[in-house]
Amino acid sequence: MSLSKQLIQKLISITGSTHAYTDLQEQISFLEEPRNKFFGKTPLVLQPGCTGEVAAILRLANENNIGVVPQGGNTGLTGGQVPDNTNTQVILNLSRMNKIRDINPQNNSVTAEAGVVLATLQATAEEVDRLFPLSLGSQGSCQIGGNLSTNAGGTSVLAYGNTRDLVLGIEVVLANGTIINQLGTLRKDNTGYDLKHLFIGAEGTLGIITAATLKLYPRPKSIYTAFVGLDNPDKALKFFNIAKNDAGSMLTAFELLPVIGLEFSLRHLDGSRDPLTCKHPWYVLLELSISTGSVDGALLIESIFERAFAQDLLNDAVLAGSIEQSRQFWALRHGLSEVQRAEGGSIKHDISVAVSDIPEFLERALKAVEKAIPDCRPCPFGHMGDGNLHFNISQPVEADKAEFLARWEEINSLVHNIVIEMNGSISAEHGIGQLKREILKQAKDPASLRLMHILKKSLDPNGIMNPGKVL
Ligand code: ZN
Repeated sequence: MSLSKQLIQKLISITGSTHAYTDLQEQISFLEEPRNKFFGKTPLVLQPGCTGEVAAILRLANENNIGVVPQGGNTGLTGGQVPDNTNTQVILNLSRMNKIRDINPQNNSVTAEAGVVLATLQATAEEVDRLFPLSLGSQGSCQIGGNLSTNAGGTSVLAYGNTRDLVLGIEVVLANGTIINQLGTLRKDNTGYDLKHLFIGAEGTLGIITAATLKLYPRPKSIYTAFVGLDNPDKALKFFNIAKNDAGSMLTAFELLPVIGLEFSLRHLDGSRDPLTCKHPWYVLLELSISTGSVDGALLIESIFERAFAQDLLNDAVLAGSIEQSRQFWALRHGLSEVQRAEGGSIKHDISVAVSDIPEFLERALKAVEKAIPDCRPCPFGHMGDGNLHFNISQPVEADKAEFLARWEEINSLVHNIVIEMNGSISAEHGIGQLKREILKQAKDPASLRLMHILKKSLDPNGIMNPGKVL
């Protein structure tokens, strides 16, 4: 439904005109998404300052059948946070709701509003000598509300789980404006359905998360970062299991990258250098975080390497000698999305399979895409310890970018078919948004998909919550 001038004025009166944008120039930063894949229009961007204002906006939108697109830091990669191009959907941006409502180191919990930037939340935890472990590339601008709505992953999932696993309670506003307050700080609460998990990962299609109580952890006393060269993903898998068995939850990262990824980073990142003396087909970046004084981290990592070298799994390995060197190792990994952009077009996937199936998946998927586009440059990298890879393919050197990107769907279905055959997931950590709506219909078990529709219908009967996303 389109918005009348009168309705726009009523909506603006909720936030006040200083926090409402109707002019295209002022709206641009809310409309453009990081991959420039989706282009939408909106008559109105609203930035409410409190939960009551969010509730008032939704109530009015629901009465008038107006679609509402919730948005945090606008860093999402599947177009879930931008409107369609009908110019009928209102953007509700939560950036102004950026207060830390409470922090309790004794309970290891923090209550933050949706608009708190992830890096700010990490820093706030650090001030009370605690760790908020969620960590991802966009942490300087993504917001915790968006992290919750997409159940974001990142590089610490191996030890601490996805965003979902870090939540004690949430506050959420339903489509009709009802506020559900479940901001409990309890570690145990078996009083019926665990409603918070309905909204986490729902990408704003069932309600808007306005605040959350999150778990804090002890800060690691020492961190060991290593960069390892090896021959193939199968050896990486065996190495992973040695590290996991020996270090348990102290193994906080295990990231895989191919030699082409390292070469891209070395070519395009200022001041980067190869941590090892010669090239290897694959690399692992692993990290141990030691929180207790009773464990000698240096001895532990040494024994892991000894075992792995004895089994002929590793070609070479280097341990970061300083915080700065550790940062340099991580920069090679974190820069991978950016450096791929510098190499032209890149067709992307965010898949997961069982950790033990990673080598087989890579073998099959690499063969399939290399057959389809012979000179393409696959750069699959990511969270091997979670069975999650960003299976990205850079265009052939000097190929036409637009022509290459025109094959996005075709290559996606090649890769996704292998993922589905292997009982994997076509979206491991980025969500569905607009990008994967169609493939979700094929990938999801039909009975589960029906149940998702029933839930959507009962919580949002007028279909105003982030229309056109997920389902
Ligand atoms: Zn990732």
